[in-house]
Amino acid sequence: VALLSSWTVAALVLLAGAAGFYAARRPRPDDGDAARLRADYLRGLNFLANDQPDRALETFTRVVEVDRDTVEVHLALGALFRRRGELDRAIRLHQGIVARERLEPALREQALYALAHDYLAAGLHDRAEQLFAQLAAGGAYRLPAMRELVAIYERERDWTKAIDLHRRLARVGHPQQETAVLHYLCELAEAARAAGRLDEAREHLRAARASGRRFPRVALVRADIAVREGDAVLAMKLLGRAIESEPGLIDEALPRVLTLARAAGLRGTAIVDDFVAACAHGPRELAHAAIVADALEFESLAGLVRQFLRADEAVSGFLRAVGRDVDDLDAAGLRAVGVVLRRLAVSTPRHRCAECGFASRARFWQCPACKTWDSQRPMLRFGFAAGHADTFQRG
Ligand SMILES: [Zn+2]
Repeated sequence: VALLSSWTVAALVLLAGAAGFYAARRPRPDDGDAARLRADYLRGLNFLANDQPDRALETFTRVVEVDRDTVEVHLALGALFRRRGELDRAIRLHQGIVARERLEPALREQALYALAHDYLAAGLHDRAEQLFAQLAAGGAYRLPAMRELVAIYERERDWTKAIDLHRRLARVGHPQQETAVLHYLCELAEAARAAGRLDEAREHLRAARASGRRFPRVALVRADIAVREGDAVLAMKLLGRAIESEPGLIDEALPRVLTLARAAGLRGTAIVDDFVAACAHGPRELAHAAIVADALEFESLAGLVRQFLRADEAVSGFLRAVGRDVDDLDAAGLRAVGVVLRRLAVSTPRHRCAECGFASRARFWQCPACKTWDSQRPMLRFGFAAGHADTFQRG
């Protein structure tokens, strides 16, 4: 006799309980039916025991009764299939329940909700979306179905639908997720800006500003529009505003400042100096960003980088080990060190999620792992030993 797999045992326990219940329950109006049902159940269990889940499934699907108890057993078995990753079986089983004509509405909803999760797990997002939308219209699964839809729209980057859904959620008493909505508007604005539809981009940003909240990403996107239109004064004002509310965005802002400075020729130094003055509350962030952006030709940035390197034990220790000292480095030497550090920085994760620890080289406004918005923080150290993830963490 082959060893039973763990899920088979679980299913057996589950179904044996149900079969026992069947055997013991009060006599049914038609004893013949009840006997046939019992026999079918036993046959199904036998298939399971012999590791023939498909035949078992066939049998169980045939005996889905309109009865609450049997349907619940089937729902539990379906959940078991999904957990095991046997998605086609879970789908067939749940479809079988949903297809029943006489079924309590509450059980039908439960089966639809389970089926939607099967589709989601199987990557059939369109079908999942359809079912969640149906469930979101009302009933016991309205709120969870709406939340699932939000996640689907975020993944599909369908920001307009996601905004609508957040507004619907707010109307049914779910707390307003304003941060998410503001990010959706920024996403829409960025897409419009990238496509050259600047008026549309401004419209989305206006909608975001109507929230009355200072949202640094809105300032960043508006600054991009100003850069594109050659309005350096406005762009600098907006970038200053963005980093004032969120010093962690200095690495986003600096490349934009450098674009403006390099386009301004001789006046470029003044532009960088202004930005350095505006970053007084984040010298380490700025020094790190200057190394990554390869901007050490600007004296004010080079000075900050020297300070940063002096304070960084790993880097200053490394330099001492090769017989140099940060203070002895001339401009060319500093730039050479900068090149090495930049290579280190761009090949190791530079952002880490404060919620779940997910680390990445690229910045994500929404953590790809835990889906939290604005949870990534820059890591300001240079890892000399790949794999020592902890040494990258911001102190
Ligand atoms: Zn995360």
